[in-house]
Amino acid sequence: MHTLFISDLHLAAERPQIMAQFLAFTTDIAPQAAALYMLGDLFEYWAGDDDTDALGAQTAAALAALAARGTKVFLMQGNRDVLMAGAFAARSGATLIEDPLLINLHGTQTLLTHGDALCTDDADYQRFRAYARDAGNQARFLAQPLETRREQMLGMRAQSEASKQQKTETIMDVAPAAVEDLLRQYNYPRLIHGHTHRPARHVHQVDGHSCERWVLNDWYQRGGYLRVDARGCSAVLL
Ligand code: MN
Repeated sequence: MHTLFISDLHLAAERPQIMAQFLAFTTDIAPQAAALYMLGDLFEYWAGDDDTDALGAQTAAALAALAARGTKVFLMQGNRDVLMAGAFAARSGATLIEDPLLINLHGTQTLLTHGDALCTDDADYQRFRAYARDAGNQARFLAQPLETRREQMLGMRAQSEASKQQKTETIMDVAPAAVEDLLRQYNYPRLIHGHTHRPARHVHQVDGHSCERWVLNDWYQRGGYLRVDARGCSAVLL
């Protein structure tokens, strides 16, 4: 029995090859797993669950088919798809999960998070994160027509890309102190996250505990996943 983790696919209509790779993954690889966890940024942007364009519909159908074959499907919001909610999860046969979420993963306590909350050196970004996750702000945004929301999302995406050019790699990575605080708070689990697009295995020594931290790969150039069973984790590229 094993479990798969993916994140940061950034599915978008203009990158059909990623979509093709994702669809093949859901039919050829994921069905053998007991569960598939998607830890955020499944979509390049998400304007709301009432957006039923081809990309979202095709994704939901692929996940629903996977769930129907017996693999449990879990969805976590990222920063790009923070508005992905219950209606989309229902269409996908998926369960929407909180960030962070602690699970018993084949016998090992494991904490799952998208990862953006750990980038605490980027004060700018953390301000935006708090704004984007505020329920009142979300309700006001969602009250606008879908087309307006899509345009605003594309504008924000361009702005975010421009501001990233001004920031150092270190500022945009997770802050070690934030990682250690989180591990301490959850009693020293294993940690799995995405967001930074820097796939790696790290080991943090916290208060005498050795904690593994796995960073998932993005799918911009090439898809991939983390496979976990009772013996441990292995990263696989497609
Ligand atoms: Mn992200």
